Amino acid sequence: MTVKNREVHLAARPQGEPVATDFRIVTADVPEPRSGQVVVRNDWISVDPYMRWRMNDVKSYLPSFRLDAPMEGGAVGTVVASGVDSIPIGATVLHGLGWREYTLVNERYVQVVDAEIAPASSYLGSLGMPGLTAYAGLKEVAPVRPGDTVFISGAAGAVGVIACRVAKHLGAERVIGSAGGPEKARRLIEEFGYDDAIDYRAGKVGVQLRDNAPDGIDVYFDNVGGDHLEAAIGAMREHGRIALCGAISQYNDTEPAPGPKNLTLAITRRLSLRGFIVFDHQHLADEYVALAAGWLRDGSLATPTTIVDGIDNAVDGFLGLLHGANTGKMLVRLTDGAL
Ligand code: NDP
Repeated sequence: MTVKNREVHLAARPQGEPVATDFRIVTADVPEPRSGQVVVRNDWISVDPYMRWRMNDVKSYLPSFRLDAPMEGGAVGTVVASGVDSIPIGATVLHGLGWREYTLVNERYVQVVDAEIAPASSYLGSLGMPGLTAYAGLKEVAPVRPGDTVFISGAAGAVGVIACRVAKHLGAERVIGSAGGPEKARRLIEEFGYDDAIDYRAGKVGVQLRDNAPDGIDVYFDNVGGDHLEAAIGAMREHGRIALCGAISQYNDTEPAPGPKNLTLAITRRLSLRGFIVFDHQHLADEYVALAAGWLRDGSLATPTTIVDGIDNAVDGFLGLLHGANTGKMLVRLTDGAL
């Protein structure tokens, strides 16, 4: 194709905190699709905390990003050239080769999405991976039961905001969220459906959690790890359940972080702590999308997004995400006016 592509490459493996010079924007040709391939103009690309792990040269559940090659991640866009009869030009699709303006992708890795249910960008947020993560965590990993008190860290982020909505739908009586700063704490209660909020920067999480839940909590959805996990273990009621979803407070660590000091409480209080990866819960996807589509229609899954514009700002969006620049899903919009 005559059009040029701009892609974000990993130029160096970050040592601790990533910096702008760890990344490079490279211009490349957009190939013509062969049979079985499509070319997608990416309207939206996702930046996510898990990408930080993939920048390290370590073995994990997904391969490390290669140096001097485009990074990968969720993207939704419009098919602009097609070698697949069932995916015509103009179709809206979701795929996993983001971080670039145009993607050549095999049909096996493309999902055509219904942009009538919700704006296409929702497939990177409430109808997509963050939504299913929240649902799987609270439906299956640390199940919420009617009447439960639930604590969620990273509460104002993509997964956290949806987790609160899901917890309420599953019957939670009280949901307490923790986020950084007074403005996010205010919005947790006034806009995102939380009953109580902790500003973790304002004081010790354990003390604030005890003040908010003097009788303890039944379920903890952990997005943060570290002091949040230790505080939650300390506040768990007997037979409490913890979904270990993420540990963003430790992703830039260069040395192994110490574990929670109070883990013996898991024995005496008969707690369950279970780590999970959303890919292992794909069997819940249809059930979740059907529920979420209804909740979007009735307004009970309203979630915020934070948008940065243009491939030139994608790295800033990612770096900002690691510092809480986002409320709700952090998205990069590559096409003017995309929904
Ligand atoms: P978010 O939208 O929540 O963005 C990250 C947020 O982390 C920031 O907004 C910031 O919010 C918070 N944060 C950053 N540093 C710290 C810190 N030191 N202490 C406390 N909070 C911090 O991202 P996602 O919703 O996409 O992801 C949330 C978590 O879920 C991540 O840990 C991620 O890795 C994990 N995850 C796991 C999946 C799985 O399959 N297990 C799938 C998807 C996500 P604030 O301003 O409040 O500090």
